[in-house]
Amino acid sequence: MVITGGAGFIGSHLCDRFLASGMNVLCIDNLLTGSLDNLTHIMEHDRFQFLEADVSKFITVDGEVDFILHFASPASPIDYLKLPIQTLKVGALGTHNALGLAKTKGARFLLASTSEVYGDPLIHPQPEDYWGNVNPIGPRGVYDEAKRFAEAMVMAYHRTHGVDTRIVRIFNTYGPRMRIDDGRVVPTFLGQLLRGERLTVFGDGSQTRSFCYITDTIEGIARVLHSDIHDPINIGNPREMTIVEFARVLRELFGSSAEIDFAPLPVDDPVTRQPDITRARELLGWEPEVKLKDGLGLTRDYFAELLG
Ligand code: UDP
Repeated sequence: MVITGGAGFIGSHLCDRFLASGMNVLCIDNLLTGSLDNLTHIMEHDRFQFLEADVSKFITVDGEVDFILHFASPASPIDYLKLPIQTLKVGALGTHNALGLAKTKGARFLLASTSEVYGDPLIHPQPEDYWGNVNPIGPRGVYDEAKRFAEAMVMAYHRTHGVDTRIVRIFNTYGPRMRIDDGRVVPTFLGQLLRGERLTVFGDGSQTRSFCYITDTIEGIARVLHSDIHDPINIGNPREMTIVEFARVLRELFGSSAEIDFAPLPVDDPVTRQPDITRARELLGWEPEVKLKDGLGLTRDYFAELLG
């Protein structure tokens, strides 16, 4: 199995998961936003290999490959705003290269897509047959459109070349191995709480998100991979809340009285987001199991250890 972006947050958990299920795993990552720290514990594993390479350039792999999971991409808003061209390239050229590899090797291909394909959605919650509401020229467009292009490319390879493809649309996921400084709301708030700082809520905090714990997301991705469904499948937790509510939940959970600062809302920040997971439930028998307070506890422990 090849996992591009395997040194990232979700990618490294996938490496663990598929090593544990007995596969050989080749992780390809250029370490632009991923980190070898996420792989230290498996670096010496005899079925694991790491290749430092940029999948937006030509990629080649020796021997047989059964599965390719394409997870390489900056994925947090501050990362893709800082790296707009790399984000577009890995979604477009990287996906093309990874699909080319799948075609050559006769491998099953899974694309990590995103809830961002729905943009600032006008339909709520978002089912897979919603086409989305994306601003192509806004700062977030680099990620949204790269992933939309990637989905189109995957379907073209499936229809034209018969590549055995899967598309998983991943909604907000959190857990250990997120970068504490990646700017996303979970690591940011947990870091602020651990340092005794004020919480920075963007806008008036009435925008909503739905947070899925990493082990649930990984299980969902594995089920999509082993299914026979070529259409996109949402994987996320339908429990939705406003960001201000989320700040309050965190304060309560960790007994903090941190004040809240309100900062400007990023451009095109989606107002609502909640996955409709009917398809995953009915076709894969999947739904999230980890309670928010349990997942947040585990994530907080991870960051607490990191901060020492
Ligand atoms: N957010 C916030 N404070 C922060 C970081 C993020 O209020 O310090 C908000 C952000 O504006 C968005 C939500 O939290 O509405 C989730 O942001 P995140 O970057 O985690 O991911 P997104 O879902 O926007 O990709």
